[in-house]
Amino acid sequence: MLCLRCGQCCLRLGIFIVNPSSILADGSINPHDPQAMVFKPAEERCPHLASQAGHGGYLAVCTIHHLPCYRGTPCEQFEQVGPEDAVCIMSGYFRALAEKR
Ligand code: SF4
Ligand code: SF4
Repeated sequence: MLCLRCGQCCLRLGIFIVNPSSILADGSINPHDPQAMVFKPAEERCPHLASQAGHGGYLAVCTIHHLPCYRGTPCEQFEQVGPEDAVCIMSGYFRALAEKR
């Protein structure tokens, strides 16, 4: 899936994320830390979500994307049904949903 970096899934979906206070100095987490993963409820902004200016405006940035603690998380494994090189279809869905509100 090609991510458009709209950041909507990091806001709209309920998902287990790395606990910000469990990240160690080297960017990893202690695998035996029972608090290392916490649930981010749907409609709550992920604490790791930031933004940067990009082509035509806002681009979502995951601030832990490059860290070892991100490896193997549900976020890293998050995929949509369809071809690997297809553009994310959820971005448009989330936008349409927001417009209805
Ligand atoms: S909704 Fe899709 S395009 Fe937007 S950040 Fe999530 S994966 Fe990327
Ligand atoms: S950890 Fe990163 S990819 Fe996962 S919800 Fe938070 S900002 Fe998005």
